[in-house]
Amino acid sequence: MTETLTREALTAADRCDRCGAAAVVRAVLPTGGELLFCGHHANKHSERLGELAATIEDTRGEAAVVADAR
Ligand SMILES: [Zn+2]
Repeated sequence: MTETLTREALTAADRCDRCGAAAVVRAVLPTGGELLFCGHHANKHSERLGELAATIEDTRGEAAVVADAR
């Protein structure tokens, strides 16, 4: 099976699906769906995304800060 998945890096044009802030995390669902999150919502939904077995692409890299999302 040859499947080429070319995902472009997140840009300033990519917005969080929840609040419209600049997206820094992309969550790819096993179903092929894709969700974009800002840092705040990525943290907030990380548990749920884990349950969905989503693949997380975090463009924040090592600078990622796990904040208390409240
Ligand atoms: Zn957000």
